Amino acid sequence: MFLKLLLRRYRIPFAVFLFVALLGPVLLGSLDRHLARHNLRADAERMLEQIDTAVRRSEALLRELGAVSGFDCETQGVSQRLADEVFEEPAVRWLGLMRDKRVQCASAPLRRELQDYHFALKPLKDQFLIAALNEGQLRDVLLLGLDTENGRLVANIQPPDIDLITRAECEGCVDYILKLQGIEGFQFGRNELDEIPAEIHRVQVSAPQVDYELVLYAGKEFVDYYLGMGWFVSVLISLVCATVLAILVHALLSLRNSLRFVIQQGLNHGEFVPYYQPIVDSRTREVVGAEVLVRWKKPDGTMIPPGQFIPFAEESLLILPMTEQLLAQVARDLDRYRWRQGAFFASINLVPEHLDSDDLLVQLKSLLERYHLKPQNFSIELTERRQLANLSAASEALKAFTRLGIDAKIDDAGTGYGGFSYVQELPISTLKIDKMFVDTAVDGNLDVKRTVLEAIIEFAHHSELETIAEGVESESQVAYLQAHGVNLIQGYVYGRPMSAEDFDRWLKDF
Ligand code: C2E
Ligand code: CA
Ligand code: CA
Repeated sequence: MFLKLLLRRYRIPFAVFLFVALLGPVLLGSLDRHLARHNLRADAERMLEQIDTAVRRSEALLRELGAVSGFDCETQGVSQRLADEVFEEPAVRWLGLMRDKRVQCASAPLRRELQDYHFALKPLKDQFLIAALNEGQLRDVLLLGLDTENGRLVANIQPPDIDLITRAECEGCVDYILKLQGIEGFQFGRNELDEIPAEIHRVQVSAPQVDYELVLYAGKEFVDYYLGMGWFVSVLISLVCATVLAILVHALLSLRNSLRFVIQQGLNHGEFVPYYQPIVDSRTREVVGAEVLVRWKKPDGTMIPPGQFIPFAEESLLILPMTEQLLAQVARDLDRYRWRQGAFFASINLVPEHLDSDDLLVQLKSLLERYHLKPQNFSIELTERRQLANLSAASEALKAFTRLGIDAKIDDAGTGYGGFSYVQELPISTLKIDKMFVDTAVDGNLDVKRTVLEAIIEFAHHSELETIAEGVESESQVAYLQAHGVNLIQGYVYGRPMSAEDFDRWLKDF
């Protein structure tokens, strides 16, 4: 029960979480390959560094011993010295002095297999020689030699143990081949890998000090190790991303809900009030009506302009109860201030959703009755900025208003979807010409929009529609519009939107 409730409340963030969490590992699918390759390269670099260190330390040791005078097997204690050096130097596991391909003395007795072997030392730089034995049981034997006056000093270098170097927890799953560049046939390795590894698991690293090259091969087991890890990491990354996204979505939704909540609170407390902006006939200076523009009056007295909440109110349909509250106040104002005398109209802004039911019509009828108002005291304006889903249904709904005697106008003419079809299909009497076009009605700049303004006016006259110019700010615009047959003016030139009280005072002074 509780889980169900929780799921319902958080279903969208939860869906986002699930989607990302499931999709993440799929998208990050090749992470394991990447991890395996990356780690193999790191293992190779570490291993090469170890070999390099071992070779250089052996080199230094041989040079040091080579410089000791009378360092030959006839001298007393030389074998002991060799044994001591091997004991001290971890990079070396055997040291010997050779002459005529025979070991004269050494740190320890030579293994049998090695004794039989003809050391195939090949020249390196600075009198050094190197050999790698990689046959039969003689695996990973790497020898470094130095020719001295007293014979050839040979060190068997401690080979690196790849199993200790690799970070992958798998036994014998990596193998290597060390090649010495420039020396034919020099190849040294363990060759213990059971299966033949795929090419992509082969990593080459060139060492900076000596010219050798290390090739590391990884078997399937190695890749499998990182496969598990890659899966784990990608699931982890996906879970983190999914959580962050879900929290973001939740926050966004809460913000929306909180806007809905505060508007709802505002509606509950009657904070939305009508402001009135006069519409004046410029020929007679008669106030023919006013547009009703909503204002949100917060308890602390601040006024919020419609731009900040109308878009959300429209989207969330809170505009419906809001208009209902406005209408009730407008009817009361028409009655209280006696504006209803004469042909004065209060023009209400509608959204397409108002036409989906007859609630508004029913309310208007009851207000007309209650305050003894004439239908002509109201007018409705429908903006062209929003598209009507069903033009003929909207037309039928509007006709119900016009039959009652309530006039219908098209708002923001020229800016939206309407065009000719609205004028043809809808029972409207008036075009309200948008400020955007009215702004061009000044002497001088003859631009495209001014041509549009003239086209709209022409179109209205041709269609026998009344016109109201919106956003008129100067007398020169009034003169221009009058010259073009547009006489009804709404704009700061006559009056800004005002509270009922201010509007009533303004009416008396005008
Ligand atoms: P609108 O329906 O086009 O209203 C005209 C807007 O132009 C009003 O802005 C008005 O104050 C402004 N205006 C009028 N004359 C002038 C002028 O000379 N100069 C300038 N610069 N501006 C002028 P407002 O009151 O901010 O309203 C903005 C929009 O909010 C309205 O545009 C309308 O689309 C919407 N709105 C306002 N009240 C309601 C309402 O009750 N219901 C609905 N659905 N929308 C509303
Ligand atoms: Ca309007
Ligand atoms: Ca308008």
